[in-house]
Amino acid sequence: MVVEALDLAESLIQPGITTFEIDKAIEQFIESKGAKPAFKGYNGFPASSCISVENEVVHGIPGNRTLNEGEIVSVDVGVYFQGFFGDSARTIAVGEISADKQKLMDVTQSSLQKGLNKASSGARLSDISHAIQKTVEAANYSVVRDLVGHGIGRKLHEDPQIPNYGNPNAGPRLRTGMVLAIEPMVNMGTYEVKTQSDDWTVVTADGLPSAHFEHTVVVTDNGPEILTLAN
Ligand code: MG
Ligand code: MG
Repeated sequence: MVVEALDLAESLIQPGITTFEIDKAIEQFIESKGAKPAFKGYNGFPASSCISVENEVVHGIPGNRTLNEGEIVSVDVGVYFQGFFGDSARTIAVGEISADKQKLMDVTQSSLQKGLNKASSGARLSDISHAIQKTVEAANYSVVRDLVGHGIGRKLHEDPQIPNYGNPNAGPRLRTGMVLAIEPMVNMGTYEVKTQSDDWTVVTADGLPSAHFEHTVVVTDNGPEILTLAN
C-alpha cells in the first residue's frame, strides 16, 4: 500500500498541482484499502503524507503550494494496517529538472541502495550508516545529521535509530527478522538544517535543494529483503 500510494503520488505530480491535492489522493487511496495513514495525527501532524519541495528536507505539510516545472519534491508515506507499519519515501522531479538536481536525486537513491545492501544478518548497524555517508560525500554532497532512520514494526518509530553517517563496525549487530526504515536525507550544500515556524517543515540552512529516499527492509540470513520496492 505504501508503494502504491507513492506510485499514485508520482503519477499525479506535474506543474500546477498543489501539495494538498497530492496528499488528499494519498489519503483517499490508503483509506479505500481499509488502512490508516500513519502520519495523520502523529505528534499532531495534520496531514496523511509529508511533502517537501526543493530546499525542504522532510516533514513538509501539504497545503496550497503549487508545484512548478523544474522543482524536486519528496513524498513520504506511512501506512498502518493490521497491527503493523510500513514507511517509504522518494524524491520526484516536476517536469524537466536541472542536471544538478537529477544528480542529487541519483546520489541519494544510490546511497540508500548502498545502505540497504549492508542490512544483512551479522553486519553491524553503523555499517549501513557508513555506506550511506561514503556514497554521498564521494559526490561532494552532505548527509543531514539531525534526522535518522529507525526500526519499524508495531510502532512507526522503533529502536534502533539509524544515522546516515558514522564509522563502520559499531552499534548493535543485525539479526534476521529485524525490520528497519533506512532513509538518507542528502543536501546539495551544507548538512545543517533548521525547522520552520510551523514547527514541522525542516529546511536546509543554506536554502539549497535536498533529496530523500526511504525503504522499509527486513534483515534476513540471505541479505536484505526490501518491502517497499516499486512494482
Ligand atoms: Mg518516511
Ligand atoms: Mg521513516
